[in-house]
Amino acid sequence: GPLLKVENLTKHYPLGTGFLKKTIPVIRAVEDVSFSVEAGETFCIVGESGCGKSTVARLLMRLVAPTAGRVLIDGTDIAGLRQHALRAWRRRMQMVFQDPYSSLNPRLTTGQIITEPVENFERLSRRQRQALAADLLRKVGMSPEMIHRLPSELSGGQRQRLGIARALALEPSLIIADEAVSALDVSVQAQILNLLMDLQQQMGIAFVFISHDLRVVEHIAHRVAVMYLGRIVELAPCEALFAKP
Ligand code: ADP
Ligand code: ADP
Repeated sequence: GPLLKVENLTKHYPLGTGFLKKTIPVIRAVEDVSFSVEAGETFCIVGESGCGKSTVARLLMRLVAPTAGRVLIDGTDIAGLRQHALRAWRRRMQMVFQDPYSSLNPRLTTGQIITEPVENFERLSRRQRQALAADLLRKVGMSPEMIHRLPSELSGGQRQRLGIARALALEPSLIIADEAVSALDVSVQAQILNLLMDLQQQMGIAFVFISHDLRVVEHIAHRVAVMYLGRIVELAPCEALFAKP
């Protein structure tokens, strides 16, 4: 079966107080969304800002609970998982964000940032930590000499590589990349997309790649889901979508 299966996923946010509550009782952020992702697949979700993409990502990570519907990993409903099983699930599933600067601790060095996720699970010796950091830096095309740099001493592209290295540290089965290249210059975007494709081929990682920009996903997607107002309005293999007149 698929690595990830999403069935009729729905998320309504209550509106605040006041007169709006009577007219628009809830924001239908995600409405009846279903899809599945195979191991090693790049599944892209595109749609304009506000269509519900990030909410889908948060539902997949169970950072928020759905109003209705289910998320299954290897056939298991994550809603039924207890704390330690959910932690194990999150370990298999990592996120890469639009702005790694805001998600990376500015006081930690590159090496510390990369090895931190692993050290949440197991103790590493100094030697193991350095070897792991150097290996991951190489994987994302950075020099191991950058191990002592702070995030503020890196370029935007290097920071995104660092965010990817951190996501790789726990050898995930699935990476959710939410607008992972949107803040970057076009030339740097291409470099990061190439890196993600290489990693996918070498390591067999599945990607849920979220972007408001259809052009960004054209070269990496196996399948594309187009969202509009909380719903998937089109779901097709990438070639089929771009072959349309
Ligand atoms: P996208 O990622 O496509 O830009 P989002 O998932 O962030 O879309 O948002 C979808 C809709 O849900 C938007 O109308 C947004 O304002 C609303 N929304 C998102 N998060 C919340 C929240 N925590 N509370 C209320 N409304 C939210
Ligand atoms: P995105 O970049 O995905 O469009 P935003 O910048 O709109 O997201 O939202 C950033 C944060 O604010 C998210 O955690 C989202 O859940 C929350 N949020 C978005 N819209 C609303 C809303 N209408 N009410 C409350 N929280 C919101």
